[in-house]
Amino acid sequence: MTDAQARKDVVAAYREVGRRGLIVASSGNVSHRTRGGMIITPSGCSADTLDAGALVAMTLAGDVKGNAAPSSEWAMHAAIYLAYPAAHCVVHTHADACTALACLNEALPPFHYMVANFGGDDVRCAPYVTFGTPELARLAVAALTGRTACLLANHGMIVHATTGERALTAALVLETLCRQYLLARAAGAVRLLTAEEMQAAHQRYQTYGQPRTAERL
Ligand code: 13P
Ligand code: ZN
Repeated sequence: MTDAQARKDVVAAYREVGRRGLIVASSGNVSHRTRGGMIITPSGCSADTLDAGALVAMTLAGDVKGNAAPSSEWAMHAAIYLAYPAAHCVVHTHADACTALACLNEALPPFHYMVANFGGDDVRCAPYVTFGTPELARLAVAALTGRTACLLANHGMIVHATTGERALTAALVLETLCRQYLLARAAGAVRLLTAEEMQAAHQRYQTYGQPRTAERL
């Protein structure tokens, strides 16, 4: 993908997470992998006003092209691209339900078969550390082992995907699942799916969807 296309994807994904209410003000960031590293949203930007010219191009080692300050979470995005070759777009938000569950310092458990979309039987919650630190990058990468999403304790969530569109969908699905789980928990005792039930869901997903586009989120 060209840098210009990566810029387009980042702007489209960032605007859409804003439009859907997953990012309020600058409470989140989006990036896309490029040949030279990544294109990432600038620090403190708003979904309403962001344009492609404001995006920051940088290497995964942290060398910035130009004068703009990249997202304070650039190290977390870079660490994900370095650790997970399948990651081409990363979306981080403080979406309400994800953040509420993350404030309980709990994983999203296998309460619904769609949790399997993120690669395992749960979506882990990385322990709390200060935002924008290399330690948060390390903890997020660990919590993402075998998964495409994790919660960040007392902070929010982060997802990665092979395209901007899929990363956006994954963010929306994770937020929906967290909301459904919190609703169910508020209503009573949630029955979690068993390991066998989740295994069957993982297997069923292998042939789910349209043949030519049979890709999960
Ligand atoms: P930036 O505005 O620097 O991207 O930071 C927002 C954020 O979510 C920090 O965790
Ligand atoms: Zn954040």
